[in-house]
Formats: sequence, structure tokens, C-alpha cells
Amino acid sequence: MARYAGPQCRLCRREGIKLYLKGDRCYTGKCAIDRRPYAPGAHGQARRKVSEYGLQLREKQKARRIYGVLETQFRNYFERAERQPGVTGENLLRLLERRLDNVVYRLGLATSRMEARQLVRHGHFTVNGRKVNIPSYLVRVGDVIAVREKSKESPRIKELMERAADRTPPPWLEYEENQAQGRVVALPTRDQIDTPVQEHLIVELYSR
Ligand code: SF4
Repeated sequence: MARYAGPQCRLCRREGIKLYLKGDRCYTGKCAIDRRPYAPGAHGQARRKVSEYGLQLREKQKARRIYGVLETQFRNYFERAERQPGVTGENLLRLLERRLDNVVYRLGLATSRMEARQLVRHGHFTVNGRKVNIPSYLVRVGDVIAVREKSKESPRIKELMERAADRTPPPWLEYEENQAQGRVVALPTRDQIDTPVQEHLIVELYSR
């Protein structure tokens, strides 16, 4: 699956908030949002009236960029969310949270979703004992996500395992430090998802 390969900080500046796409750098003074807190481009500092459509579009783009998903795939998630019982916006966020790359990030085994995606792609994780290298793989309740035995020797993975041991994952995940593995104990509820997105605007956008 393709992915956006342009400058990450530009995406944050476009959305006007920190999307934390670059891992540790986002917490330093080098963050572009702190240095240039206006939209990119020649007219980035111009004052503009944003239409209702514009607000909805920005919210959808923000969600897409946070989870690193391209338009078609995002639309597919939305259609799947619509078919599920319950609130469509919440279903959408829940589906995005269940992506394997997001779960690796939430467990603290990567500093950003982009790094998590690359580690998954490189085959460093197993789900229920089987190697899975598909970042969009959707985890289920009871799934065990573990660092592969072979990968535990990698200096970067060792660093990330130490990092994960120091962090508290969200309540729907558990991290077992001694095994370097995480477990999905429940599906996340909306209040357990800290993504700064107003999902009802995305639903309105796609319902036009
Ligand atoms: Fe966004 Fe991180 Fe770049 Fe700051 S450093 S603009 S939070 S990607």
C-alpha cells in the first residue's frame, strides 16, 4: 500500500496542530509548529474565512494524516464503520486504532506511527505467534502482539523495548515487559482514544 512520502511537518502546519508524526523530535524545540505556527505556502499567513465544508475536510485530513492512511483506504474504513452497529464516527476511530502499526505505537514499541509501520513492514512482530508484516492488519480482542525472538537482538528494538517498559499503554492494551509483548484486552471506547479529531465532522463530510 502506498503512503505519503513528503515532508511530515508540513502536514502539521497545514492542520495547525502537532500531529506527532516524527517521534521524539516532536517534543523538542525543533518542532516546526513551534517555529512557524502558520499554514505552509505563500498565503499561509493570510486570514481566511473557513466554510463548513472546509472544516469538515480539515478534520478528515487530520485523521488521515495522524494514522498515515491514504484517501481510498480511509474511505473504505468509513464504509466499514457505517455498516457496523453503533455510532459511525466512533466505529471509524476504533477501526483506525485497531491497525497493527497503531497498536505497536500505542504499546510504546515505536516513537511514531511511521516508525511502527516500518518495523511491522520489516517483520519484527508476530500476532498470536505468527509473523505479520501488514501495517493495516486489524487486531482483535485477545490478540497477542509480540516482538519476534530474532528481532530482540537488534539495538533499536532493544531501545524500544526499554521505552515500552517505562510507559503505560491505554487501558484497552496491556504490555508484558518480560515477554516483550502486548495484549488486546478490549476494543477501545471513545474516551480511551486521545486522537484530537471531531469525528462527527468526518461523518458529515462523507454524508454530503
Ligand atoms: Fe509535527 Fe512533529 Fe514536525 Fe512538530 S516535529 S511539526 S509535531 S511532525
